[in-house]
Amino acid sequence: MADIERHDYDVIVIGAGGAGLRAAIEARSRGLRTAVVCKSLFGKAHTVMAEGGIAASMGNVNSRDNWQVHYRDTMRGGKFLNNWRMAELHAKEAPQRVWELETYGALFDRTPEGKISQRNFGGHEYPRLAHVGDRTGLELIRTLQQKIVSLQQEDHAEHGDYEARLRVYPECTVTELLLDEGRIAGAFAYWRENGRFLRLEAPTVVLATGGIGKSFKVTSNSWEYTGDGHALALRAGANLIDMEFVQFHPTGMVYPPSVKGILVTESVRGDGGVLRDAEGRRFMFDYVPEVFKGSYADSEQEADGWYSDPDNNRRPPELLPRDEVARAINSEVKEGRGSPHGGVYLDVASRLPAEEIARRLPSMHHQFKELADVDITAESMEVGPTCHYVMGGVEVDPDTAASGVAGLFAAGEAAGGMHGSNRLGGNSLGDLLVFGKRAGAGAAEYVAGLGARPEVSQADVEAAEQRALRPFEESGSAAAQHPYALHGELQQVMNELVGIIRRGEEMSSALDELAELKDRAGHMAVFEGNRQFNPAWHLTLDVANMLLVSECVARAALRRTESRGGHTRDDHPGMDATWRRRQLVCEHRDGAVTVTERTHPPMRRDLLELFDITELRKYFTADELGEVTAEL
Ligand code: FAD
Repeated sequence: MADIERHDYDVIVIGAGGAGLRAAIEARSRGLRTAVVCKSLFGKAHTVMAEGGIAASMGNVNSRDNWQVHYRDTMRGGKFLNNWRMAELHAKEAPQRVWELETYGALFDRTPEGKISQRNFGGHEYPRLAHVGDRTGLELIRTLQQKIVSLQQEDHAEHGDYEARLRVYPECTVTELLLDEGRIAGAFAYWRENGRFLRLEAPTVVLATGGIGKSFKVTSNSWEYTGDGHALALRAGANLIDMEFVQFHPTGMVYPPSVKGILVTESVRGDGGVLRDAEGRRFMFDYVPEVFKGSYADSEQEADGWYSDPDNNRRPPELLPRDEVARAINSEVKEGRGSPHGGVYLDVASRLPAEEIARRLPSMHHQFKELADVDITAESMEVGPTCHYVMGGVEVDPDTAASGVAGLFAAGEAAGGMHGSNRLGGNSLGDLLVFGKRAGAGAAEYVAGLGARPEVSQADVEAAEQRALRPFEESGSAAAQHPYALHGELQQVMNELVGIIRRGEEMSSALDELAELKDRAGHMAVFEGNRQFNPAWHLTLDVANMLLVSECVARAALRRTESRGGHTRDDHPGMDATWRRRQLVCEHRDGAVTVTERTHPPMRRDLLELFDITELRKYFTADELGEVTAEL
């Protein structure tokens, strides 16, 4: 135990993506001694991969945009299952968070009049995504990091120490949350480089650990997306909600195999790109669902007219929410109208001049040239669905981001509720800024109201150390299991049996297979090497988290007997209004995952009034409609 580093803070932020950095800035600005712990290099969080932009109704390109329209779009995208208070806060506050980024030094693309430029994206009624080419996430992280550095310089000026109130622990993984009688007391972590352990003490933890995509074989997600925050929260006693809703982005690369799943940004379609089948037909006109009929064009002429005259034409169906487009692509491929490598064609080459494509979509141009030897200014791209985002996450209070465990907060992709059954593109970057800030503020308020600080128990630290080292002990055992093999099997199970199109019996067999993998995972071993940068050891810890979170996804998906948003059941096609207000809650008790149903609270009256009753009729049950009409 002698070699365990020990540090003391007011708040530990786990994760240095957009949510974590914004939370840390807020906490530090409110005077808290703040640690930021991230398993990636500082500046390399998943957020840097974000391409299209940040959704915020600034109205710079269409002055009719406002928070109410954004709110409506978000609720429609989530098929009315969203936590409406979160959607409201997000729609209201995202513009302020974008302007604030400018004050931190962000350089957005501009309109001809010099305002922040905003682009079209699926499901957003007006051009709404503030962007920096197709590298928005990189600029967002660069800017937030710059702000952190400036705060550290202030601390140096005041205390003679850059890290007096804000320290970053890069390449450092948290394996456990430490509790004192049910309250957060700290976190246990290790340095990835040398395998040495850390005991971080603090009364608050903000989970900003991102998503779970690495549990699936085909994914746009980076290596860090192993559901650590989701698993840490569950084990500490917090609830996860909406875990059945996993977003499959319609356009990932499908070829060559080594790059399968890498994202092709929605900006390609936002900027005019269209989807075609093997015959060159624009098939999306066949897939406009009943709830969206009336808002989308039914001819190519009208769809094309929308780009230059959105007031007199309806939107192209290529810009339907992601779940609709992903399902449509899946059907085309299944019907034998796909491309040679099992996708469809995304064509921007015939739609925009080559120099315009290279200017607006530089990363896509580079990505296809380098990885697939395809010149997107001259040829179509082959694309297909890829696991992209998890709508489910830690259940939090919308205003403070507090979970059900005292002192534990969550924001960004790790938190659930905001996006309902399906996230609109661009709403994640808005989400992580709005709720990152709120989580930092929530933690500060909690600390201010705290009496005696919780204490870390030595026994808990020793137990955490023992658990982390167990894969070394297993190496000699006859039952030893290889983490890479287990990870591969897990990804296969999730992709094939709990993927984009689901069936009851397949998910039941997925649960059997997950149980078997869980048993074997108890014997995961490192086999070679010691604690110094040892990826196999790191993976043993990640796989345990992925298995726990995957079980939540599979159990919740089996329970929800309807299709809605990111959850599509072949055996229960179509939305069932009786499920709309029902939310599935995952808990971890005595080592087992349980799923229970809960009813969403009814939407506040002034928010209900933003919708036409004919639209609500498409989603609500007759009883609910009765309540609503009485209300209105
Ligand atoms: P992240 O940015 O993923 O940060 C997670 C952090 O947690 C990392 O620092 C990681 O190292 C750390 N971490 C994880 N586990 C641990 C642990 N155990 N211990 C310590 N640290 C840990 N959204 C949009 O709104 N607009 C877009 O244009 C857009 N484009 C996208 C393009 C791509 C290719 C992808 C994959 C996603 C895109 N998204 C987009 C989604 C969006 O980027 C993510 O949802 C968002 O960045 C998540 O941010 P976050 O702050 O929640 O987490």
